[in-house]
Amino acid sequence: SSRPSKHFIEQAIDADLAANKAQGVFTRFPPEPNGYLHIGHAKSICLNFGLAKNYNGTCNLRFDDTNPSKEETEYVESIQEDVRWLGFQWDSLHYASDYFGQLFEWAEKLIKAGKAYVCDLTAEETRQYRGSLTEPGKNSPFRNRSPEENLDLFHRMKAGEFPDGTKTLRAKIDMASPNLNLRDPVMYRIMHAHHHRTGDQWCIYPMYDWAHGQSDSIEGITFSICTLEFENHRPLYNWYCESLGIHHPRQIEFARLNMTYTVMSKRKLLQLVKENHVSGWDDPRMPTISGLRRRGYTPESIRNFATDVGVAKFNSTIDVIRLENAVREHLNRVAPRRMVVFDPIKLTITNWPEGKVEMMNVVNNPEDESAGTREVPFSGSLLIGSDDFREEAPRKFFRLKKGGSVRLRGGYIIDCQDVVKDDDGNIVEILCTYDPETKSGQDNSGRKVKGTIHWVSADPAVPVEVRNYDRLFATENPDQTEDGKTFLDNMNPNSLEVTTAYAEPEIESASAGDRFQFERLGYYVVDPDSDAEKLVFNRIVPLRDSWGK
Ligand code: ATP
Ligand code: MG
Ligand code: MG
Repeated sequence: SSRPSKHFIEQAIDADLAANKAQGVFTRFPPEPNGYLHIGHAKSICLNFGLAKNYNGTCNLRFDDTNPSKEETEYVESIQEDVRWLGFQWDSLHYASDYFGQLFEWAEKLIKAGKAYVCDLTAEETRQYRGSLTEPGKNSPFRNRSPEENLDLFHRMKAGEFPDGTKTLRAKIDMASPNLNLRDPVMYRIMHAHHHRTGDQWCIYPMYDWAHGQSDSIEGITFSICTLEFENHRPLYNWYCESLGIHHPRQIEFARLNMTYTVMSKRKLLQLVKENHVSGWDDPRMPTISGLRRRGYTPESIRNFATDVGVAKFNSTIDVIRLENAVREHLNRVAPRRMVVFDPIKLTITNWPEGKVEMMNVVNNPEDESAGTREVPFSGSLLIGSDDFREEAPRKFFRLKKGGSVRLRGGYIIDCQDVVKDDDGNIVEILCTYDPETKSGQDNSGRKVKGTIHWVSADPAVPVEVRNYDRLFATENPDQTEDGKTFLDNMNPNSLEVTTAYAEPEIESASAGDRFQFERLGYYVVDPDSDAEKLVFNRIVPLRDSWGK
């Protein structure tokens, strides 16, 4: 995709570079390792890594692992895999926890400068003292402790002398500030908790705001890009850097990605996994990167989607159709075609020579000549989708009907003569003749038919398991619920339909991760659940959107 003009972040970067306020574009992607990445993170990844690339700068991957209680190594590993899979490579890998020592020293520096103090208010009291948007805050009774006393208490906090929640270190800013974040924000809290990297070394942990900007600063980040919720944290970000007199990155906020029919909060995604509403973080219906990967999305389609939705200053909700269209658009260009029949019905060519099999040469991808051709066996015993046949059909039905004609893709024109029914009156076989003058690519018959349908030769058709996935949620805004309901009540009860389909023999050479267009049906990927006995396919997207209709 191409964009006509630069977005507001690029414009801000251009201005800072021109004014010599920044010496290059150094960005970072800073996930908290408390869950798997989702499509919203993908947008942030594409933005941060994309800017670094376009401006010849660098982008770091930094784990924002300052909260020991929710973080796990499993997440650290999945995040790296996901970033690489999206096609990006970080300049260097960091952990905010690596900066705990430096942050501690900087906290001492602020204490000595009279800009931070140890406070004994409980969490609840701290909240009450903070006031509200309409009410100024009140100074903590501990606000005027001397730097010496504060330093002593702070060291004792670190040494583990005090139980959880009994003391905090707070920045001494302004309890009357109209910005609540500046009303003496907490810098450290006491938590006797095991950390996935630092173990039991620390029992005080820095708050997000205290850790984040300083980590940016240590790494020489020039543009610290984050989502809009942090806009009113920016004055605090700036206050910390200025008070310490350290390298001062510029924080710029953009609107987070929200998408219809999708929940994006890690807490809710975790709940879906923990309560087994899905098969795992990589369930093909999940909006996680690992879910999208297993679903069959390509990295390129996700990057194109991120570019297409752009970067905005105001929150909005993107139609999930744009994500689905991005993968359609990409796979239309690159996915080889295969003929696969769902819900099959037997079609016999009555004038076909007994036992003859003819190999038809069929184009793999009409959008890509270099994809070449393949051989598809054609015989007198075929399967077609029962949807493609009507005994009696309206005039506009251009598939096969009794007395009608249709082209078999890559094969011949056939004329339907009759049907065979079982005792209950169900059609069990369609009887046709083929027209030998109409072979695809060599047709000089002058015959024109309106419809083309796909087919497979019944012997040997390859049975495959097909998992037809649909949207996980049935409502446009799953987060919106009536009283007494939760987002779980908005789940789509029909988001997975498993069926057996019959494929042309070429399918047997496919392996996990291979993507195809099943002619006239949709895009499919080979799932890792496949084995030597049976191939399993996930539907990535149907060929056309059927929701909005
Ligand atoms: P959640 O609220 O779901 O836990 P988070 O923002 O806390 O998400 P982080 O791991 O802290 O998750 O996010 C890492 C980076 O990805 C941050 O810079 C964050 O702003 C960005 N990010 C997270 N969600 C989105 C989103 N929906 N759209 C764009 N960027 C996002
Ligand atoms: Mg979070
Ligand atoms: Mg976060």
